[in-house]
Amino acid sequence: MPTSWFTHLECSVPCGAPTLDPRGRHHLCACGAPLLARYDLASARAWDRDSLRGREPNMWRYRELMPVFADETPVSLGEGFTPLFHATRLGARLGMDRLYIKDESLNPTNSFKARGQSAAITRAKGLGVTTVSVPSAGNAGNAMAAYAAKAGLRAEVFLPKDVKEPFARECILYGAGVTLVDGLITDAARVAAEKGGALGWYDVSTLKEPYRIEGKKTMAYELAEQMDWRYPDWILYPTGGGTGMVGMWKAFEEMEAIGWIAPQRRPRMVSVQADGCAPIVRAFEQGLEKAPMWENAATVADGLRVPRAIGDFLVLRAVRESGGTALSVPDNEMVDGMITIGSTEGVSAAPEGGAALAALERLLAAGTIKPHESVVLFNTGGALKYLDALPRG
Ligand SMILES: *Cc1c(COP(=O)(O)O)cnc(C)c1O
Repeated sequence: MPTSWFTHLECSVPCGAPTLDPRGRHHLCACGAPLLARYDLASARAWDRDSLRGREPNMWRYRELMPVFADETPVSLGEGFTPLFHATRLGARLGMDRLYIKDESLNPTNSFKARGQSAAITRAKGLGVTTVSVPSAGNAGNAMAAYAAKAGLRAEVFLPKDVKEPFARECILYGAGVTLVDGLITDAARVAAEKGGALGWYDVSTLKEPYRIEGKKTMAYELAEQMDWRYPDWILYPTGGGTGMVGMWKAFEEMEAIGWIAPQRRPRMVSVQADGCAPIVRAFEQGLEKAPMWENAATVADGLRVPRAIGDFLVLRAVRESGGTALSVPDNEMVDGMITIGSTEGVSAAPEGGAALAALERLLAAGTIKPHESVVLFNTGGALKYLDALPRG
């Protein structure tokens, strides 16, 4: 049994361009679309899911289908295998008995961005990179800085100037360089590319390198393992750049291909965004394949303040193929949602997690989600870096 069946990189469209050797440094396909890591899934059918028992409780327990070579050790801080809480008190309040919260706030640096960065920095290190850079709304920068420190790489983080204080300071904590940029994450991305391009920095922007998706796909592997290899009826996922959505959809495909999941209906995927920045929702409603830029993006949920996503078409594809939907919620409902999750379940929820609850309430009221169905809410980060959003007393 090899340590990984990782074989090549392929265009996500796919546009027909030749596949790429993952021992080289690749960001996007020649056509401009994201690249996806591919594995020898036919051979991977020999991998028995029962062999997971007794493995360490982190995302590298799925190493055979992760982008890592035999001679490498993953750069890990214990990310993943987060609890899937049966939210009985919150469920009772909503008249549901199969409501679950996948609590990603318990990852290193307090959000699921740790998963993506653990995979991306593992590859960057394997490629011999010395400096990594990222434009970030906050959490991705914090996670990258921590994993770069662990790997002994230099980190450069580009944040919007109005970023909440804890995000900027936590980068400093991990020894990263911080550049504050006038504007949004899209402006930070432009400045990062201008500065880092000339210096040869390795850019780990969302979907502009192929491996953050691989880290985030493990959320779906875990969900399946924790639910005894059955899918929930619905997954509510706060969507910014869409890495998690695209990653989970890819994971379903992989688990089905290797025979870990018996034929069954995939979860309906719900993409949750903010009223102040909802490019995916608008494109979903208008039947578009891509999501045009959202002007004047504003929301308390920094992770959702992504006015344009390079993987938009992949997110929209996953939502549509799953029979799911996309909807946005106002900031005040996100904050109410944070407090409701905190006060009923003792879980520290970021506004993004609060948004998933607000969306659930709306979909229950509309009759789209039925109370007897099984629902997984993703709490993608913790509340501590967003405390300003909460009342003081
Ligand atoms: C980045 C982020 C998101 C959006 O994640 P994507 O997978 O890029 O769509 C949601 N919530 C939090 C807390 C984030 O940091």
